[in-house]
Amino acid sequence: MINGEDVVINELKLGIKSLFKKVFFICVIFTNLTLFVHSQEGEVTIEYIAHASFRITSPEGTQIIIDPYASDVWIGYDYPKNLTANALVITHPHYDHDGGDYRGLKMPWDNTPKQYRQIGTYQLADMTLKGVPGKHAGNFGKEFGQKNIIWLIEVAGLRIAHLGDNGPITDQVRNAIGTVDILMMPADGDQHILKNSEAIEFLDALKPKIQIPMHYCIEELEKSGKCPGGLLPIADPLKTNTKINNIGGDTITISKASLPLNSEYWIFQPSSLITRSDNQ
Ligand SMILES: [Zn+2]
Repeated sequence: MINGEDVVINELKLGIKSLFKKVFFICVIFTNLTLFVHSQEGEVTIEYIAHASFRITSPEGTQIIIDPYASDVWIGYDYPKNLTANALVITHPHYDHDGGDYRGLKMPWDNTPKQYRQIGTYQLADMTLKGVPGKHAGNFGKEFGQKNIIWLIEVAGLRIAHLGDNGPITDQVRNAIGTVDILMMPADGDQHILKNSEAIEFLDALKPKIQIPMHYCIEELEKSGKCPGGLLPIADPLKTNTKINNIGGDTITISKASLPLNSEYWIFQPSSLITRSDNQ
């Protein structure tokens, strides 16, 4: 038999339970909202090393280095030694992108940081790294099956993609990457990696607000100012409505809120830490 007092107590218990549930859900929503707002904020630092290599620093100080090159192989200058980073992100095993690791050369670190060199999605503190399968341009890279990973880096609400030495865009890449805010893409006058028409296809598909040209000859760093075979100095932007923004240094900070409204072509200076091989 249940008396009136028990009913009141039971109702009270149920009431407290549902109140706890509500408070719990409000807390979960609030925490997620705070995390979401937080992840959309903050300044990201982009630093150009040289060739196709960049260092990206998140608002919380997480650092990745993309595509370090081997010193003085083909391109005639050095990679800065022991550049700090939490991880290396590698597009493919060519020596001008993997620090010479595949060739068995000494990496430019005493203790090489953790490396991401396989397709997949990885969380590295406040950065998400998404490696999408692509294919190396032209006939290069047959020794490793022409594998080239296009990396999408999501940080502080920004979507940054690095093409490595990828050839023409495919539907798979188009669908996996979507649109981006910043695109790091090969852009030398010789069209060594991407032909102009192929580069335009990437721009039309990914619609970056900012294009960062890379993988071109940097004459002032080359021995006797001579470009290595097949590589010419930086190309002009391919679309007429793109504003050239000379950064005037090797580093810039950017946030989702400070993205330009119209498309820009950011030209960096190479890292001041690089030394020319013939000066050593
Ligand atoms: Zn390359």
